[in-house]
Amino acid sequence: MNEDIEKVLIAEEVIERRLDVIAERIRADFAREDSLQVVGILKGALVFMADLLRRVPLRLEIECLNVASYHGGTESSGQVDFLDVKLPEVKGRSVLVLDDILDTGRTLAAVSEKLYEMGARKVKTCVLLTKDKERAAEGEADYSAFEIGDEFVVGYGLDYDGKYRNLPYVGVLKESVIG
Ligand code: 5GP
Ligand code: MG
Repeated sequence: MNEDIEKVLIAEEVIERRLDVIAERIRADFAREDSLQVVGILKGALVFMADLLRRVPLRLEIECLNVASYHGGTESSGQVDFLDVKLPEVKGRSVLVLDDILDTGRTLAAVSEKLYEMGARKVKTCVLLTKDKERAAEGEADYSAFEIGDEFVVGYGLDYDGKYRNLPYVGVLKESVIG
């Protein structure tokens, strides 16, 4: 797997140190809330979620949402499909949505809108990566660990055609692998 990587963009130790900072911000910002509902976007947020949330010493409740926008390629299809039938009960609650990356912004915008529709009191968003580009949908994430250039990355939860999510770092694939 590692031999398919052209370059490591963000090393494991760098991610870990940064997660300490983000986790502390989340803890401080939500410390006064009775409860916090976390909603992770599958499957990309899996690794980030596990590492981040273990650093947040609050009484969290964790749910996952299955949302797809890429459909196997390396470009967003522009359409956000909710693959789950049952969504978490969020009426009157504070919700923190976790995703792997903010790209066009459509996923987080669609999920936030849906959660507000379902009666959430407050929705905040948190991503591992923010792509430096113009967004189709409005809004930046409330918490973002790293900003990266506008290139396709894999690892630490992010996949190419279902693979590479288990790389412990964020990297760029060799052309020959994508071709
Ligand atoms: P958005 O809705 O912001 O365009 O895209 C969000 C989703 O697209 C992310 O949750 C992620 O699954 C996928 N995505 C966007 N950029 C990348 C990328 O560089 N690499 C991978 N593997 N997935 C990406
Ligand atoms: Mg995703």
